[in-house]
Amino acid sequence: MPASVRREDMTRLKRRVKDISRRMGANLVGIASVERWEQYKMTEEDFYPQNIWEWSKRVIVLGVQIFLPMLETTPSVVYSELYNTTNRLLDDIAYKTANFLNQNGFRAFFFPRDCYGDISVLVKKPEAAFSQVIAGYFAGLGTIGANHTLLTPEYGPRVRLVSVITDAALKPDPMIKKDICIRCGRCISNCPQSCFTARDDRVAAEMDKHRCAAYHEKLKREYRYPCGLCTAVCPVGEDRQIYGASSISEKGIGHVQSFGSKISVGEYSYIHL
Ligand code: SF4
Ligand code: SF4
Repeated sequence: MPASVRREDMTRLKRRVKDISRRMGANLVGIASVERWEQYKMTEEDFYPQNIWEWSKRVIVLGVQIFLPMLETTPSVVYSELYNTTNRLLDDIAYKTANFLNQNGFRAFFFPRDCYGDISVLVKKPEAAFSQVIAGYFAGLGTIGANHTLLTPEYGPRVRLVSVITDAALKPDPMIKKDICIRCGRCISNCPQSCFTARDDRVAAEMDKHRCAAYHEKLKREYRYPCGLCTAVCPVGEDRQIYGASSISEKGIGHVQSFGSKISVGEYSYIHL
């Protein structure tokens, strides 16, 4: 950190980082201190940011929303296009936020939102070098649900994330302590591959990530990747209040899924709420 940066300057810098990223399209912005990885021990130590980049002090987590009416057509090319759009947006916001911090004299870069070469790699090893979900939890954006996603008050699990890692000692945001997941089980019962097994002793269900990745490999070949049904059906989130139980009719889902990807008429997925 430049020696000349005072506490009040850091308060101003935090405000500017949040303003800039929001103006570029981020719906959610939260800041975590790297000490939270040590405090909560939710991953192996090799995954702590400070054990990979020793100078890192903060992780700025940026989120963009996934529009419910598009997600509810999944698996479809409509949702594929949205997924690609959120990826482009996240890349831009993260790059420019890190660049802004660099130009103010701080170390900063972004850890990309997905970070795998091909879905076939995930089938063999379904994990990333850095968890955006855990970072989002530590940054105060939400809590982790039964479906292993970050559940936010605003969008439930319908948010995509990216993280900027920096040595700028911005004030961390408070974490959300009360679980947002209401354990309704809809994500579990609607998974087309039965990837989840509920557990009584903790919120997050047991998840067969290999099976989920293998299904995604099939969907990708059919140009209607990713799945995301376990996020589409979640009743949590202010966006759900806007659209109600469903934003599209079953007939409408069938119609959308019948175009633009490799799927036979009649072979489409319903959402069972
Ligand atoms: S993404 Fe689809 S296949 Fe994977 S766990 Fe969620 S509902 Fe199941
Ligand atoms: S669908 Fe229900 S159980 Fe699953 S994450 Fe959402 S609130 Fe939790």
